[in-house]
Amino acid sequence: MSVDKAMSIFGNSIFGQNAPHTPAPAQEAAPGGAGTAGKRVEKTDEQWRQELTPEEYQVLRQAGTERPYTGEYWDTHTAGVYQCRACGAELFTSNEKFDSHCGWPSFWAPLAEGNVRYIHDRTLGMERVEVRCATCDSHLGHVFEGEGYGTPTDQRYCINSVSIRLVQDEDPQVSATQAED
Ligand SMILES: [Zn+2]
Repeated sequence: MSVDKAMSIFGNSIFGQNAPHTPAPAQEAAPGGAGTAGKRVEKTDEQWRQELTPEEYQVLRQAGTERPYTGEYWDTHTAGVYQCRACGAELFTSNEKFDSHCGWPSFWAPLAEGNVRYIHDRTLGMERVEVRCATCDSHLGHVFEGEGYGTPTDQRYCINSVSIRLVQDEDPQVSATQAED
């Protein structure tokens, strides 16, 4: 049985983030002002409908799933950062992307814990963990664990291409020097 596997994903702090408060009050000290961390984006359903394409809206706001091998990034190896397509928050990087051959972009970890949030999903009669953008609460995909991919975490963040946007690395030094104090 996979009870132990299922429990382990609940035990490694993933579900500690369901609380409505965000535990990062120090973020306001970050320079630059354009940082997305810690800032919630809330819009009405009508606003999302207007801002997103129908396909984006269906996946991001209605938890849809794009068909495998059809998305923009499932086979992409370009170096860069993947942002939330809805709000621009940085969610994943090419460093954690790996070839899962499942037809969707796959990552073994988010850019940082706290950039995404996790929700228990039982909609298809099986236990799954939904991954959402922590900033705007848009649907990204699901995370699976213990599949034997041989990545550092043995987790697979199975993310819809239409939920994310790749921003290619141009000057790696910029991101390397953004550390606040
Ligand atoms: Zn977002």
